[in-house]
Amino acid sequence: MIIDSHVHLFYENSDPMSWFIGSARSGVAVLNKATGEKMDPYELYEQTAPQLFDKNGDKLVGWMDEAGIDRAIVLPIDLRLLTDAPSATDIDFPTIEEKNHTYFEATRRHKGRLFACAGMDPRRKNAAGLFKKGLEEWGMIGLKLHPTAGYYPHEPACYALYEVARQYNVPVIIHSGNEPAPLKCMYSQPKYIDAAAADFPEVTFIVAHCGHGWYEEVVDLATMKPNIYCDFCGWQVEYLTHPDYFFRALRYAMDFLGPWRVLFGTDGPAYTLLMSNKDWVEAIRNPASPSGIKFSKEEIDIFLGGAAARLYGWE
Ligand SMILES: [Zn+2]
Repeated sequence: MIIDSHVHLFYENSDPMSWFIGSARSGVAVLNKATGEKMDPYELYEQTAPQLFDKNGDKLVGWMDEAGIDRAIVLPIDLRLLTDAPSATDIDFPTIEEKNHTYFEATRRHKGRLFACAGMDPRRKNAAGLFKKGLEEWGMIGLKLHPTAGYYPHEPACYALYEVARQYNVPVIIHSGNEPAPLKCMYSQPKYIDAAAADFPEVTFIVAHCGHGWYEEVVDLATMKPNIYCDFCGWQVEYLTHPDYFFRALRYAMDFLGPWRVLFGTDGPAYTLLMSNKDWVEAIRNPASPSGIKFSKEEIDIFLGGAAARLYGWE
């Protein structure tokens, strides 16, 4: 079974325009790296948003079919507090409850293929209530936090959500590593997840993107804390730019943690602009490391799906 353990649904107004444009600005830099050409990020956004917007998950399931991905875990991200005054947090558009509900609807439409975590900024009023509602009423299977919106993963507001995760025995996925403006990476350094993992040893914390450039820090923390997992979604840029950087990081994580705490993901849909999900799965299934870094077939099978299946009880 191949499981995409980390993917999103973008759609009209799903996230603040400042973040869509910040992401487009990063995209321009990546796409035009060789020429240094300065394309208008608004233009890139206008060109690509229609291909990526996928409110009900139909496009995602099409890409999964093409890539042979059996299941995907869709993760709502809550970045609205970046742009809203704190007093206005519950009148944003769409509300965070509506956003989580949209994810639920996609899982209901694609039953057995899409599964959702709940996702909300822990500083919101009743964040824990909404998380519980997601678990109890909408069949959600975990929590996604995006601290780069302006909080650290060891703050008390987050602890209230980890307590719910502990009670319901579901994992917490925390964004880690680089991120476009206006989000701030000072909040996403892996070391800030360590205190949470220490205080909630029964909760599984999945450090998303294995911290990207901070991957050694993630592996170092995880070596001593078996409740820290990592995923390698969103590493398509590293793979395409410098394949051995990706294979070395993946090998490094597996050497220290074994394959069972290292999860595959796409972090789509944005990365499909660089590399199809099919090509990403192929790149991992047949790892062609220029310097001969090796993986066993068993390790690759566990990475692509076995580890996530065990974590979510799908074995
Ligand atoms: Zn993501």
